[in-house]
Amino acid sequence: MSTTTAKANLFDYDRKGLRALFAELGEKPYRADQVMKWVYHRHVTDFAEMTDVGKALRGKLEQHLEIVPPTTLFEKQASDGTHKWLLGMDGANAIEAVFIPETSRGTLCVSSQVGCGLNCQFCSTATQGFNRNLSAAEIIGQVWVAAKHLGNVPHHQRKLTNVVMMGMGEPLLNFDNVVTAMSVMRDDLGLGLANKRVTLSTAGLVPMIDRLGEVADVSLAVSLHAPVDELRTRLVPLNRKYPIAQLLDACARYAARRPRTTITFEYTMLKGVNDHPEHARQLVRLMRRLPAKVNLIPFNPFHGTQFERSEEDVIRAFQKILLDADVLTTVRRTRGDDIDAACGQLKGQVVDRTRRQADFRRKLEQGVADAA
Ligand code: SAH
Repeated sequence: MSTTTAKANLFDYDRKGLRALFAELGEKPYRADQVMKWVYHRHVTDFAEMTDVGKALRGKLEQHLEIVPPTTLFEKQASDGTHKWLLGMDGANAIEAVFIPETSRGTLCVSSQVGCGLNCQFCSTATQGFNRNLSAAEIIGQVWVAAKHLGNVPHHQRKLTNVVMMGMGEPLLNFDNVVTAMSVMRDDLGLGLANKRVTLSTAGLVPMIDRLGEVADVSLAVSLHAPVDELRTRLVPLNRKYPIAQLLDACARYAARRPRTTITFEYTMLKGVNDHPEHARQLVRLMRRLPAKVNLIPFNPFHGTQFERSEEDVIRAFQKILLDADVLTTVRRTRGDDIDAACGQLKGQVVDRTRRQADFRRKLEQGVADAA
């Protein structure tokens, strides 16, 4: 009697893992390297097409391994060229990935979880609740789908030059899978991106920032959004557990590992909430302690939110205070907002296990009823 065991998905492995798997199958490590190149450089998912791999080995691989990218349920291009994919992750859940083309680079924004558990008050993903972590295959699969669509060839026809882990979810709460996927992004046999062109953005899980510093050398972005604890706790509830001083200490440790590391601090500009000149001056004092760059993000509204975007001149004045104090500060250009692909607008389809969707909807209906 034969038993069928589930095949492993190649997208779940980085080079080290795939070589180990090949070793278990009695194969040489360079065979794993060859297969990776077919998959990530030529976008081939059928072993039969891998012509420099012998027939016997192809047969063996087919028995043990499959190469399954996420399914594209829907895709849409914005008027500014931003491209969004809704990718099916299983029968019920879907996540979003967004490609943002610019003149000198192409950035893919990648999700790490189905939904998010952190409940940041100004983020639409939070209103979706949380279902589960994505597998490494589901994370690197987003990059593979985009690279294939773009006709990206690492080292030759580079369309995808940067990846930011800034989509749905908190990447440091899905640590191992995110680290594996980021390893493929930076591998020459994978996407071949330079370390600093892969950015992990976190709401500030202090112990995990230290762990990241031990295992991966990627750029770090931190969602700060407020210069004082009371306000930050209101916006990013995780701050109660890891307040600003602890968070900045962890950032300083991360930056100290290597010379010329800069940490990016994201700061979403919310009208009348965190955009006062005094907030900018407080932020200056925090940023003096470490090699930092500030990225101001004009708030992107979504259905049911209580927040509004700060006025353009308020954002400029805020930026000027930081620049005048020699804090490198940029304003993120809003991209893809006509297809709900801008920061904080990604929703996907989340089978919510936290009941937060229902709570949010109830509050929304309550608000409408109160206003009527
Ligand atoms: N959980 C990670 C990854 C998400 S990154 C993190 O918090 O860093 C997405 C970035 O967009 C974060 O800085 C987030 O705070 C910001 N953001 C969320 N909602 C937003 C909105 N509605 N408008 C603008 N920026 C938003």
